[in-house]
Amino acid sequence: MKSLSILGSTGSIGTNALKIAGMFTDKFRIKALAAKNNVLMLAQQIKKFSPDIAVVFDEQSAMDLKRITSGIDVEILYGDEGYKVAASYDQVDMVVAAMVGSAGLLPVLAAIEAGKDIALANKETLVMAGDIVIKSAEKKGVKILPVDSEHSAIFQCLSGQRKEDMDKILLTASGGPFLNLPSSGFDKIKPEDAINHPVWQMGKKISIDSATMMNKGLEVIEAKHLFEVSVDDIEVLIHPQSIVHSMVSFKDGTVIAQMGIPDMKGAIAYAMSYPKRLPIGQSFPDFNSIGSLSFKKPDTEKFPCIDLAFYAGKTGGTLPAVMNASNEIAVEAFLNRKISFTYIPEVIRKTMEKHFVIANPMLSDILEADLWARSIAAEQISG
Ligand code: MG
Repeated sequence: MKSLSILGSTGSIGTNALKIAGMFTDKFRIKALAAKNNVLMLAQQIKKFSPDIAVVFDEQSAMDLKRITSGIDVEILYGDEGYKVAASYDQVDMVVAAMVGSAGLLPVLAAIEAGKDIALANKETLVMAGDIVIKSAEKKGVKILPVDSEHSAIFQCLSGQRKEDMDKILLTASGGPFLNLPSSGFDKIKPEDAINHPVWQMGKKISIDSATMMNKGLEVIEAKHLFEVSVDDIEVLIHPQSIVHSMVSFKDGTVIAQMGIPDMKGAIAYAMSYPKRLPIGQSFPDFNSIGSLSFKKPDTEKFPCIDLAFYAGKTGGTLPAVMNASNEIAVEAFLNRKISFTYIPEVIRKTMEKHFVIANPMLSDILEADLWARSIAAEQISG
Protein backbone atom coordinates (compact mmCIF):
# COMPACT_ATOMS: atom_id res chain seq x y z
CA MET A 1 0.00 0.00 0.00
CA LYS A 2 1.36 3.38 -1.02
CA SER A 3 0.18 6.51 0.75
CA LEU A 4 -0.15 9.56 -1.46
CA SER A 5 -0.36 13.28 -1.12
CA ILE A 6 -1.80 14.92 -4.22
CA LEU A 7 -0.88 18.56 -4.72
CA GLY A 8 -3.14 20.08 -7.34
CA SER A 9 -5.87 17.47 -6.85
CA THR A 10 -8.59 19.34 -8.75
CA GLY A 11 -6.53 19.89 -11.91
CA SER A 12 -6.34 17.56 -14.91
CA ILE A 13 -3.37 15.56 -13.56
CA GLY A 14 -4.74 15.49 -10.03
CA THR A 15 -8.19 14.22 -11.03
CA ASN A 16 -6.62 11.53 -13.22
CA ALA A 17 -4.28 10.48 -10.40
CA LEU A 18 -7.33 10.12 -8.15
CA LYS A 19 -9.11 8.12 -10.83
CA ILE A 20 -6.20 5.68 -10.81
CA ALA A 21 -6.06 5.61 -7.00
CA GLY A 22 -9.80 4.90 -7.02
CA MET A 23 -9.32 1.98 -9.41
CA PHE A 24 -6.67 0.38 -7.17
CA THR A 25 -7.81 0.98 -3.61
CA ASP A 26 -5.68 -1.99 -2.51
CA LYS A 27 -2.56 -0.19 -3.76
CA PHE A 28 -3.06 3.49 -2.97
CA ARG A 29 -4.34 5.42 -0.01
CA ILE A 30 -4.90 9.17 -0.20
CA LYS A 31 -3.54 10.91 2.87
CA ALA A 32 -3.48 14.55 1.76
CA LEU A 33 -5.16 16.60 -0.95
CA ALA A 34 -4.23 20.15 -1.92
CA ALA A 35 -5.98 22.41 -4.40
CA LYS A 36 -6.21 26.12 -5.12
CA ASN A 37 -9.80 27.24 -4.65
CA ASN A 38 -12.09 24.71 -6.31
CA VAL A 39 -13.67 23.87 -2.94
CA LEU A 40 -16.69 22.06 -4.38
CA MET A 41 -14.61 19.52 -6.25
CA LEU A 42 -12.17 19.22 -3.36
CA ALA A 43 -15.06 18.55 -0.97
CA GLN A 44 -16.25 15.68 -3.20
CA GLN A 45 -12.72 14.27 -3.27
CA ILE A 46 -12.53 14.47 0.52
CA LYS A 47 -15.81 12.58 0.83
CA LYS A 48 -14.62 9.88 -1.55
CA PHE A 49 -11.00 9.43 -0.42
CA SER A 50 -11.06 10.50 3.26
CA PRO A 51 -7.64 12.16 3.46
CA ASP A 52 -6.28 13.27 6.82
CA ILE A 53 -5.38 16.71 5.47
CA ALA A 54 -6.88 19.04 2.84
CA VAL A 55 -5.30 22.32 1.79
CA VAL A 56 -6.58 25.32 -0.14
CA PHE A 57 -5.04 28.58 -1.23
CA ASP A 58 -6.59 31.12 1.15
CA GLU A 59 -8.50 31.51 4.37
CA GLN A 60 -11.82 32.21 2.68
CA SER A 61 -11.64 28.97 0.67
CA ALA A 62 -10.65 27.13 3.85
CA MET A 63 -13.74 28.48 5.63
CA ASP A 64 -15.95 27.52 2.70
CA LEU A 65 -14.44 24.04 2.62
CA LYS A 66 -14.93 23.61 6.39
CA ARG A 67 -18.58 24.51 6.01
CA ILE A 68 -19.17 22.06 3.15
CA THR A 69 -17.30 19.22 4.84
CA SER A 70 -18.59 19.77 8.38
CA GLY A 71 -18.96 16.46 10.17
CA ILE A 72 -16.12 14.89 8.18
CA ASP A 73 -12.90 14.20 10.03
CA VAL A 74 -10.33 16.13 7.98
CA GLU A 75 -7.84 18.78 8.95
CA ILE A 76 -8.23 21.80 6.70
CA LEU A 77 -5.27 24.09 6.17
CA TYR A 78 -4.49 26.93 3.78
CA GLY A 79 -1.68 28.89 2.14
CA ASP A 80 2.04 28.18 1.74
CA GLU A 81 2.29 26.62 5.20
CA GLY A 82 -0.60 24.30 4.43
CA TYR A 83 0.90 23.15 1.12
CA LYS A 84 4.16 22.47 2.90
CA VAL A 85 2.38 20.34 5.51
CA ALA A 86 0.62 18.32 2.77
CA ALA A 87 3.94 17.88 0.94
CA SER A 88 5.91 16.68 3.95
CA TYR A 89 3.21 14.81 5.92
CA ASP A 90 4.86 11.86 7.72
CA GLN A 91 2.07 9.43 6.73
CA VAL A 92 2.87 9.89 3.03
CA ASP A 93 5.23 7.84 0.82
CA MET A 94 4.84 9.71 -2.45
CA VAL A 95 3.83 13.21 -3.41
CA VAL A 96 2.08 13.75 -6.74
CA ALA A 97 3.21 17.27 -7.62
CA ALA A 98 0.62 18.62 -10.02
CA MET A 99 0.19 22.23 -9.01
CA VAL A 100 0.15 24.83 -11.77
CA GLY A 101 3.25 26.91 -12.48
CA SER A 102 5.77 28.29 -10.04
CA ALA A 103 3.46 27.60 -7.07
CA GLY A 104 4.75 24.02 -7.12
CA LEU A 105 8.40 24.78 -6.34
CA LEU A 106 8.41 25.23 -2.57
CA PRO A 107 6.05 22.30 -1.84
CA VAL A 108 8.21 20.02 -4.02
CA LEU A 109 11.36 21.10 -2.18
CA ALA A 110 9.59 20.50 1.15
CA ALA A 111 8.55 17.02 0.00
CA ILE A 112 12.11 16.15 -1.07
CA GLU A 113 13.47 17.49 2.21
CA ALA A 114 11.03 15.17 4.00
CA GLY A 115 12.30 12.21 1.94
CA LYS A 116 9.19 11.66 -0.18
CA ASP A 117 9.35 10.20 -3.67
CA ILE A 118 7.89 12.62 -6.19
CA ALA A 119 5.62 11.94 -9.15
CA LEU A 120 6.42 15.18 -10.90
CA ALA A 121 3.94 16.83 -13.24
CA ASN A 122 4.83 20.38 -12.32
CA LYS A 123 7.50 21.08 -14.95
CA GLU A 124 7.94 24.69 -13.83
CA THR A 125 9.62 23.39 -10.67
CA LEU A 126 12.51 21.98 -12.69
CA VAL A 127 12.57 24.92 -15.09
CA MET A 128 12.98 27.37 -12.23
CA ALA A 129 15.31 25.47 -9.96
CA GLY A 130 16.29 22.22 -11.66
CA ASP A 131 19.84 22.13 -10.30
CA ILE A 132 18.69 22.66 -6.72
CA VAL A 133 15.78 20.21 -6.98
CA ILE A 134 17.82 17.41 -8.58
CA LYS A 135 20.75 17.90 -6.21
CA SER A 136 18.57 17.78 -3.11
CA ALA A 137 16.71 14.72 -4.44
CA GLU A 138 20.05 12.96 -4.95
CA LYS A 139 21.19 13.97 -1.49
CA LYS A 140 18.01 12.66 0.11
CA GLY A 141 17.89 9.49 -2.03
CA VAL A 142 14.46 10.52 -3.31
CA LYS A 143 13.11 9.31 -6.66
CA ILE A 144 11.71 11.87 -9.08
CA LEU A 145 9.38 10.07 -11.47
CA PRO A 146 8.23 12.08 -14.46
CA VAL A 147 4.49 12.42 -15.09
CA ASP A 148 4.84 14.60 -18.18
CA SER A 149 4.12 12.12 -21.00
CA GLU A 150 7.27 13.00 -22.96
CA HIS A 151 9.53 12.67 -19.96
CA SER A 152 7.87 9.46 -18.89
CA ALA A 153 8.60 8.21 -22.41
CA ILE A 154 12.26 9.27 -22.28
CA PHE A 155 12.58 7.73 -18.81
CA GLN A 156 11.21 4.45 -20.18
CA CYS A 157 13.45 4.58 -23.28
CA LEU A 158 16.51 5.09 -21.07
CA SER A 159 15.57 2.38 -18.62
CA GLY A 160 18.19 -0.38 -18.65
CA GLN A 161 20.47 1.69 -20.89
CA ARG A 162 23.85 3.16 -20.09
CA LYS A 163 23.80 6.93 -20.09
CA GLU A 164 27.11 7.09 -21.97
CA ASP A 165 25.54 5.17 -24.86
CA MET A 166 22.91 7.84 -25.39
CA ASP A 167 23.15 10.09 -28.42
CA LYS A 168 20.15 12.38 -28.26
CA ILE A 169 16.71 12.90 -26.80
CA LEU A 170 14.04 13.34 -29.46
CA LEU A 171 11.27 15.24 -27.71
CA THR A 172 8.02 15.01 -29.63
CA ALA A 173 5.37 17.72 -29.75
CA SER A 174 1.83 17.63 -31.08
CA GLY A 175 2.37 21.15 -32.40
CA GLY A 176 -0.71 22.46 -30.64
CA PRO A 177 -3.88 23.87 -32.21
CA PHE A 178 -2.13 26.34 -34.54
CA LEU A 179 0.39 24.05 -36.17
CA ASN A 180 -1.15 24.56 -39.61
CA LEU A 181 -2.45 28.10 -39.17
CA PRO A 182 -0.44 30.55 -41.31
CA SER A 183 1.42 33.11 -39.18
CA SER A 184 -0.69 35.87 -40.77
CA GLY A 185 -3.63 34.53 -38.75
CA PHE A 186 -1.80 34.47 -35.40
CA ASP A 187 -2.82 38.00 -34.39
CA LYS A 188 -6.48 37.05 -34.46
CA ILE A 189 -6.12 34.08 -32.10
CA LYS A 190 -8.49 34.32 -29.14
CA PRO A 191 -8.08 32.60 -25.75
CA GLU A 192 -10.98 30.24 -26.54
CA ASP A 193 -9.25 29.13 -29.78
CA ALA A 194 -6.05 28.42 -27.89
CA ILE A 195 -7.69 26.51 -25.04
CA ASN A 196 -9.09 23.89 -27.40
CA HIS A 197 -6.16 21.58 -27.78
CA PRO A 198 -6.66 19.07 -30.59
CA VAL A 199 -5.23 16.04 -28.79
CA TRP A 200 -4.67 16.51 -25.07
CA GLN A 201 -7.34 17.55 -22.53
CA MET A 202 -5.52 19.86 -20.16
CA GLY A 203 -5.80 22.91 -17.91
CA LYS A 204 -5.84 26.49 -19.25
CA LYS A 205 -2.25 27.48 -18.54
CA ILE A 206 -0.73 24.42 -20.18
CA SER A 207 -3.16 24.67 -23.11
CA ILE A 208 -1.92 28.18 -23.88
CA ASP A 209 1.68 27.03 -23.38
CA SER A 210 0.94 24.27 -25.82
CA ALA A 211 -0.48 26.73 -28.36
CA THR A 212 2.60 29.00 -28.17
CA MET A 213 4.79 25.89 -27.93
CA MET A 214 6.34 27.30 -24.76
CA ASN A 215 5.17 24.04 -23.24
CA LYS A 216 7.75 22.25 -25.39
CA GLY A 217 10.34 24.85 -24.41
CA LEU A 218 9.64 24.23 -20.73
CA GLU A 219 9.87 20.51 -21.42
CA VAL A 220 13.32 20.92 -23.02
CA ILE A 221 14.59 22.48 -19.79
CA GLU A 222 12.70 19.89 -17.73
CA ALA A 223 14.43 17.11 -19.71
CA LYS A 224 17.82 18.77 -19.33
CA HIS A 225 17.52 18.48 -15.55
CA LEU A 226 15.70 15.16 -15.24
CA PHE A 227 18.13 13.32 -17.49
CA GLU A 228 21.17 15.50 -16.77
CA VAL A 229 21.97 16.32 -20.39
CA SER A 230 22.84 19.50 -22.24
CA VAL A 231 20.05 21.19 -24.20
CA ASP A 232 22.23 20.60 -27.28
CA ASP A 233 21.44 16.92 -26.84
CA ILE A 234 17.71 17.54 -27.12
CA GLU A 235 15.85 17.90 -30.39
CA VAL A 236 12.20 18.87 -30.73
CA LEU A 237 10.14 17.05 -33.35
CA ILE A 238 6.58 17.86 -34.34
CA HIS A 239 4.54 14.67 -34.36
CA PRO A 240 0.86 15.60 -34.75
CA GLN A 241 -0.52 12.10 -34.09
CA SER A 242 1.00 12.13 -30.56
CA ILE A 243 1.44 8.36 -30.59
CA VAL A 244 5.21 8.44 -30.10
CA HIS A 245 5.53 10.20 -26.75
CA SER A 246 9.27 10.72 -27.27
CA MET A 247 12.38 8.83 -28.36
CA VAL A 248 16.02 8.39 -27.49
CA SER A 249 18.76 7.66 -30.02
CA PHE A 250 21.91 5.73 -29.13
CA LYS A 251 25.51 5.59 -30.38
CA ASP A 252 24.94 2.47 -32.48
CA GLY A 253 22.18 4.06 -34.57
CA THR A 254 19.35 2.55 -32.51
CA VAL A 255 16.34 4.69 -31.72
CA ILE A 256 13.96 3.61 -28.96
CA ALA A 257 10.49 5.14 -28.93
CA GLN A 258 7.75 4.85 -26.34
CA MET A 259 4.24 4.79 -27.77
CA GLY A 260 0.69 4.82 -26.57
CA ILE A 261 -2.56 6.62 -27.14
CA PRO A 262 -2.47 10.26 -26.06
CA ASP A 263 -3.99 9.90 -22.60
CA MET A 264 -2.08 11.20 -19.61
CA LYS A 265 -3.32 8.36 -17.37
CA GLY A 266 -0.58 6.07 -18.72
CA ALA A 267 2.28 8.30 -17.57
CA ILE A 268 0.58 9.12 -14.26
CA ALA A 269 -0.06 5.48 -13.43
CA TYR A 270 3.49 4.51 -14.35
CA ALA A 271 4.94 7.18 -12.05
CA MET A 272 2.58 6.17 -9.25
CA SER A 273 3.42 2.48 -9.42
CA TYR A 274 6.95 2.41 -10.89
CA PRO A 275 8.46 -0.03 -11.73
CA LYS A 276 5.19 -1.95 -11.97
CA ARG A 277 2.63 -1.33 -14.70
CA LEU A 278 -1.03 -1.17 -13.78
CA PRO A 279 -3.89 -2.55 -15.89
CA ILE A 280 -5.66 0.81 -16.14
CA GLY A 281 -7.92 -0.21 -18.99
CA GLN A 282 -6.03 1.85 -21.53
CA SER A 283 -6.53 0.90 -25.18
CA PHE A 284 -3.61 0.53 -27.58
CA PRO A 285 -2.95 2.71 -30.61
CA ASP A 286 -4.89 1.31 -33.55
CA PHE A 287 -1.98 1.33 -35.99
CA ASN A 288 -4.12 0.13 -38.85
CA SER A 289 -6.43 3.13 -38.68
CA ILE A 290 -3.64 5.61 -37.80
CA GLY A 291 -1.85 4.51 -40.99
CA SER A 292 1.22 6.71 -40.77
CA LEU A 293 3.21 8.59 -38.18
CA SER A 294 4.80 11.86 -39.30
CA PHE A 295 7.63 13.95 -37.91
CA LYS A 296 9.08 17.33 -38.77
CA LYS A 297 11.11 20.16 -37.30
CA PRO A 298 9.14 22.96 -35.61
CA ASP A 299 8.82 26.36 -37.30
CA THR A 300 10.57 28.54 -34.74
CA GLU A 301 9.63 31.74 -36.54
CA LYS A 302 5.97 30.95 -35.99
CA PHE A 303 6.70 29.66 -32.50
CA PRO A 304 9.56 31.82 -31.12
CA CYS A 305 9.02 30.49 -27.58
CA ILE A 306 10.99 27.36 -28.51
CA ASP A 307 14.15 29.33 -29.26
CA LEU A 308 13.68 31.46 -26.15
CA ALA A 309 13.55 28.31 -24.06
CA PHE A 310 16.62 26.75 -25.72
CA TYR A 311 18.48 29.99 -25.05
CA ALA A 312 17.32 30.10 -21.43
CA GLY A 313 18.12 26.42 -20.94
CA LYS A 314 21.59 26.83 -22.37
CA THR A 315 22.35 29.98 -20.39
CA GLY A 316 20.97 28.48 -17.18
CA GLY A 317 21.33 30.30 -13.85
CA THR A 318 18.36 32.51 -13.10
CA LEU A 319 17.30 32.93 -16.75
CA PRO A 320 14.93 29.93 -16.97
CA ALA A 321 13.09 31.18 -13.86
CA VAL A 322 12.78 34.61 -15.48
CA MET A 323 11.49 33.06 -18.68
CA ASN A 324 8.99 30.97 -16.75
CA ALA A 325 7.69 33.85 -14.62
CA SER A 326 7.30 36.22 -17.57
CA ASN A 327 5.52 33.46 -19.47
CA GLU A 328 3.06 32.99 -16.60
CA ILE A 329 2.32 36.73 -16.56
CA ALA A 330 1.98 36.90 -20.35
CA VAL A 331 -0.31 33.86 -20.49
CA GLU A 332 -2.54 35.32 -17.80
CA ALA A 333 -2.69 38.66 -19.66
CA PHE A 334 -3.61 36.84 -22.87
CA LEU A 335 -6.34 34.86 -21.09
CA ASN A 336 -7.68 38.17 -19.71
CA ARG A 337 -7.61 39.62 -23.25
CA LYS A 338 -5.05 42.26 -22.33
CA ILE A 339 -2.49 41.23 -24.95
CA SER A 340 -2.53 39.45 -28.28
CA PHE A 341 -1.32 35.91 -28.81
CA THR A 342 1.77 37.08 -30.70
CA TYR A 343 2.70 39.44 -27.89
CA ILE A 344 3.20 36.54 -25.43
CA PRO A 345 6.73 35.71 -26.72
CA GLU A 346 7.49 39.44 -26.94
CA VAL A 347 6.78 39.93 -23.25
CA ILE A 348 9.04 36.98 -22.44
CA ARG A 349 11.84 38.07 -24.76
CA LYS A 350 11.86 41.66 -23.50
CA THR A 351 11.89 40.52 -19.87
CA MET A 352 14.71 38.04 -20.53
CA GLU A 353 16.75 40.74 -22.28
CA LYS A 354 16.53 43.02 -19.26
CA HIS A 355 17.67 40.34 -16.85
CA PHE A 356 21.14 40.22 -15.36
CA VAL A 357 21.74 36.46 -15.04
CA ILE A 358 23.09 34.99 -11.82
CA ALA A 359 25.07 31.94 -12.91
CA ASN A 360 24.90 29.69 -9.83
CA PRO A 361 21.85 30.92 -8.00
CA MET A 362 20.71 29.96 -4.54
CA LEU A 363 17.02 29.37 -3.99
CA SER A 364 16.61 32.93 -2.73
CA ASP A 365 18.17 34.30 -5.96
CA ILE A 366 15.71 32.25 -7.99
CA LEU A 367 12.70 33.42 -6.02
CA GLU A 368 13.92 36.99 -6.32
CA ALA A 369 14.43 36.63 -10.09
CA ASP A 370 10.94 35.17 -10.35
CA LEU A 371 9.40 38.18 -8.58
CA TRP A 372 11.54 40.62 -10.55
CA ALA A 373 10.47 39.03 -13.84
CA ARG A 374 6.80 39.24 -12.89
CA SER A 375 7.00 42.97 -12.34
CA ILE A 376 9.06 43.59 -15.49
CA ALA A 377 6.69 41.44 -17.56
CA ALA A 378 3.72 43.33 -16.12
CA GLU A 379 5.39 46.58 -17.23
CA GLN A 380 5.67 45.26 -20.80
CA ILE A 381 1.95 44.58 -20.70
CA SER A 382 0.68 47.81 -19.18
CA GLY A 383 3.22 50.05 -20.92
MG1 MG B 1 4.10 17.05 -22.05
